[in-house]
Amino acid sequence: MAGPVPFLDLKATYRELGPALEEAFRRVMVSGHYIMGPELAAFEEEFARYCGVDHCVGTGNGLDAIALILRAMGIGPGDEVIVPSNTFIATWLAVSQVGAVPVPIPPDQFHNLDPDRVESAVTPRTRAIIAVHLYGQTARMSELRSIAERHHLRLIEDAAQAHGATCNGQRAGSLGDAAAFSFYPGKNLGAYGDGGAVTTGDANLARQVRRLGNYGSDRKYEHVERGVNSRLDELQAALLRVRLGSLDDWTARRRVVAARYLSGLKNLPLSLPATAPECEPVWHLFVIESESRDALAAHLQSEQIQTLVHYPIPAALQGAYSEFRQHPVASGQVAERHRRLLSLPIGPHLPPEAVDRVIAGVREHFRR
Ligand SMILES: *Cc1c(COP(=O)(O)O)cnc(C)c1O
Repeated sequence: MAGPVPFLDLKATYRELGPALEEAFRRVMVSGHYIMGPELAAFEEEFARYCGVDHCVGTGNGLDAIALILRAMGIGPGDEVIVPSNTFIATWLAVSQVGAVPVPIPPDQFHNLDPDRVESAVTPRTRAIIAVHLYGQTARMSELRSIAERHHLRLIEDAAQAHGATCNGQRAGSLGDAAAFSFYPGKNLGAYGDGGAVTTGDANLARQVRRLGNYGSDRKYEHVERGVNSRLDELQAALLRVRLGSLDDWTARRRVVAARYLSGLKNLPLSLPATAPECEPVWHLFVIESESRDALAAHLQSEQIQTLVHYPIPAALQGAYSEFRQHPVASGQVAERHRRLLSLPIGPHLPPEAVDRVIAGVREHFRR
């Protein structure tokens, strides 16, 4: 394959599903119903069923989904919430938004919350654990569940990168007390704008989240608490219903890409992503670790292959969290490992020839 290899081809989803997406668009346009109508109700039911839970509540985005879960659980000022050190900043921001304090834990070999290091971080103020299923692989949820039960903590999933991933055969979204999803366009199940959802088996929690995200109201113009406006609109819900129908197929294609990388990149001085035995990842990202990360990225760029780093600056080193500058996760081995991360192109529409070009580019870098 000649020409550039983009990190992710977002337009490809429209090329593949155009007519069905346009039909959904037209259905909403002519209905005159644009907020909290039948498309949202149908999507919520379909996505809850997909995740294997009874309840789904659409939200405006993934960050709000996490914050609404925390608020609905009554977590706020004075509380601590255990979070991974390496995650998209939204996980931390949601904790800060409700007035609680994030307590970061370094990742395990799978880039996820390390159950072996969680327990020693629990204090009398700890209220919850947010397990992020980073890069599309669930955290080791059975171990985290035992820790949560032992210390009476709530277990929340940040499943923004893991639509359809499983742990012991159960899908992300059904592995904790509640889960937050994002439908940001680049996610495995993406909308055409912002969107998010909360899934849970807890009817009461679902009701609270729905109320908080709808101005604190169950009935129009009656406001029992000071909520926010964070809803998934009809248009995005209708488009997401179309995309949901292809999710498993697209996940299967991501797995083909990942398998090709895993066999093509063997025996090189780099670390390939490891999969925990109980997990079936959905490969939101394919992240390798290399001592020569920057040189490798530059070489691939010279071959017109786009790579990214997730995430270039860890939350603890961001200006927004300057109080964490001296925290152990901001330096030493944790920070060093962070500087080795590199995400290779992956997606359901990445052709095998492009994957082979990436593999050849990486091998070439290490030959020189
Ligand atoms: C994308 C993402 C979010 C935030 O989702 P938005 O819809 O962009 O607000 C939260 N957590 C993780 C891990 C993410 O990747």
